Amino acid sequence: MAWGGGWSGGGAMFGRGGDTAGLPFGGIPTELMDEATKLMASEPAHEPSRLIFTQQPSARERQRLTLTRLVRAYPRYLVLGSVLVIVISLILQSGPLLTEFAIDNGMRIGHHSLRVVMICAVLYLVVGLASALLQRRQIDVTGKLASRVMHDLRIRVFTHFQRLSMDFFTEEKAGVLMSRMTSDIENLQQLIQDGISQFAMQGLTMIVITIVLFATNVTLAAWTVLLVVPLLFVFSIWFHHASEKGYLLSRDRIANVLADLSESLYGIRVVTAHNRQRRNIVNHRHVVGAYRDANLYTGRVHAIYGPATIMIGILGQGLLLGIGGDMVLHHQLSIGKLVAFFLFLNRFFQPIQLLVQQYNALQQGRSSIIRLRELLETPPSVDEVADATTLATIEGRITFEHVSFGYDPARLVLHDVNLEIAPGESVAFVGPTGAGKSTMAKLANRFYDPTSGRVLLDGVDIKTVTLRSLRSQLGVVPQEAFLFAGSIRTNLSFGRSNVTSDEIEEAIDVVGLRELVDRLPQGIDTVVHERGQTLSAGERQLLALARAFLARPRVLILDEATSSLDLRSETVIERALDRLLEGRSAILIAHRLTTAQRADRIVVIDNGGVVEMGTPRELLAANGEYAKMYGAWLESGGRDATRAGR
Ligand code: ATP
Repeated sequence: MAWGGGWSGGGAMFGRGGDTAGLPFGGIPTELMDEATKLMASEPAHEPSRLIFTQQPSARERQRLTLTRLVRAYPRYLVLGSVLVIVISLILQSGPLLTEFAIDNGMRIGHHSLRVVMICAVLYLVVGLASALLQRRQIDVTGKLASRVMHDLRIRVFTHFQRLSMDFFTEEKAGVLMSRMTSDIENLQQLIQDGISQFAMQGLTMIVITIVLFATNVTLAAWTVLLVVPLLFVFSIWFHHASEKGYLLSRDRIANVLADLSESLYGIRVVTAHNRQRRNIVNHRHVVGAYRDANLYTGRVHAIYGPATIMIGILGQGLLLGIGGDMVLHHQLSIGKLVAFFLFLNRFFQPIQLLVQQYNALQQGRSSIIRLRELLETPPSVDEVADATTLATIEGRITFEHVSFGYDPARLVLHDVNLEIAPGESVAFVGPTGAGKSTMAKLANRFYDPTSGRVLLDGVDIKTVTLRSLRSQLGVVPQEAFLFAGSIRTNLSFGRSNVTSDEIEEAIDVVGLRELVDRLPQGIDTVVHERGQTLSAGERQLLALARAFLARPRVLILDEATSSLDLRSETVIERALDRLLEGRSAILIAHRLTTAQRADRIVVIDNGGVVEMGTPRELLAANGEYAKMYGAWLESGGRDATRAGR
C-alpha cells in the first residue's frame, strides 16, 4: 500500500509520508510499514461503550439460568454445531463398511478386483479427510459458541454483583465469589466447548454402531451385546462412583490448599513477625499431602478402569474370533463382515470409555450452573421499590426517625434513634467502639435498610428513591481509603466522570497533596498500585478526601481512619476537611476528638442509642458522657477517642 495515503486515524502515530528525517534509521522500512498497515486494517474499531446500568434487572436478566437458555442465545452456532456432530458421527462409521466392501468384493478368492480395492481405499481417504475437516469446523463452532456464552455469563454475574447489597459481600467470602467467576464459569465453558458435543457424538456413535452391528449379523451382534456390554456397564458404574468420590475428595482438598495459601499470603506480615514460618509450612504440608492422597486415589481408579476395559475389549474380540470364525467356516458370514465387526467393536468401546470419563465434566458443569443460578437469583436486600422516584437536588436535611436496626434482625444494634441534621450542618458521631456509629452512617446512604423506622433526606424517605439519584448526592469517605489500580487522575475522578485536569489540580491543592504530586514522576498521571499500597495511610486518606471533594456531594459521610497519623498529617487532613465541609451537611464518625470539636454538633452514641447531643461547648459544659470522654482522651495523649471512651 502506498505509504501516506493509506494512513488515517491511528496511523498518524507513525508520522506522515515524507517526514522521515527525524526518525532514527531514516524512517520505517517499507516492509515493516506494509505489515503495520495490514495490522492496523485488521484492528477492530472499538466503539465507545454505550452500556446502561439500572438497579432493576431487565426481563432477559431475570430469566432463570439454564444451559439450554444460554446456548439458545446463539441459534446459528447451535444449529450448525448440532448438524456437524450428527454428520461426523455418521460418516465416521463408513470406514469399517468400506473395508468390508473391499474385502468381500475385491479380495475374496475368485472375486479379485484391484479396481474395487482402489476405489474403496480412495473413498476411505476422502471420507477420513472430510471428517477431519468437518471436525475442525465443529470444534471451531462449539469453541465460538462457548466463548460467547461465557462472555455473556461473566458480564451477567459481574453486573449482578454490582446490584447486590453490602450484607451479601460481608457474608460471602471474596474467595468463594471469585471461584464463581473463575472455576464455575470455566467448568461451564469446558462443558459447552467439549463436553456436550463429545457426549452427543459418542452417544450417537454408539447408537449407529449398535444398529449397524445388528444389521450386519444378528447372532454375532447379540453375542457381543449380551456379553460385552453388561461387563462394560458394571465396570463403568464402578468407575463412575469411584471417580466421583475421588473428584469430590480432590475438590474439597484443593479448596483447603487454596484457603491455606491465601491466608498465609495475606497474613505474611503477621506470620513473619511471629516467627510462624515453620508452623505454617507444617500446616501447608498437611493440606497439600491430603490433596496428593486424593490425586493418588483418582490415579489408581483410572489405572484400574483403563486396562480393565481393554481386557473386556480383548475378551469380546476373542469371542468374535471364535464364534465369527466358526460362522465364516460355515459360510454364514463373509470375511469382510467379520473384519467390519472387529473394527466396529473397537469403536464401540471408545464412546463408552469417553462417556464415563466425561461424566465428571458433566457433573461439574451441572453443579456449576446450579451455583451460578443460585447466585443470580439472590436478590439484593436493599433494592429499589417498583415506583422509585428520582431524588431531586437536595439541600441536605438528614432525619433518622425512630430508627432501629440489627444486622441480624434478632439482635438490634440501634434502638429507636431520632436525630435531625440540618442542611449545611456538620455532625460528629462519637462514642465507644462498637456503639453503632458506622452503622448509623451505613443507614444514611442506604447500604442497609432500618429494621424499623425511616431515614429521610429533605423529608423524602430514602427507600422511595432510586439508588442512583440517592448516592449521587452522597459522598462517602470510608475508614480504609480504597484506591484502585490506575493513575491518581482516574482514582480522583471516580465519583464524576467529567472532571477536568484543572479541577483535579485544585482538589490536590485543597487537600494539601501538592507536595506529594510534585514529587511523583508523572504527577497526577502517576499510577498508584493496587489498593494504593505504595502510598502512606495519610496520603491515601487525603486522596479519598480529594475524590469526595471532586464528586461534589450534597451530603458527606466520613468515617475517620482510626490509625494514628502524625501531627503534621493530622493538621493537613483537618484543613482539607474544613474545605470539604463548606456548605455541606456532614456526618463525621470521629475517632479523634479534634475532629469532633470542629463539628457544629456532637452526637454521643452508646449501646445503639443517642445518649447526648449538643455543640462541643454545650457538651463540655454539661459535664456528661462527652466531657468524660474528652477528659480521658486528653489524658491518653489525644489519640483514638473510641478507645478513650472505654
Ligand atoms: P468503631 O468505632 O469501632 O468503628 P462503631 O461504633 O462504628 O465502632 P459499628 O461498626 O456501627 O460500631 O458496629 C455496631 C455493632 O454492630 C457492633 O457490635 C458490631 O460488632 C456489629 N456489626 C458491625 N458490622 C456488622 C456486620 N456486617 N454484621 C454483623 N454485625 C455487625
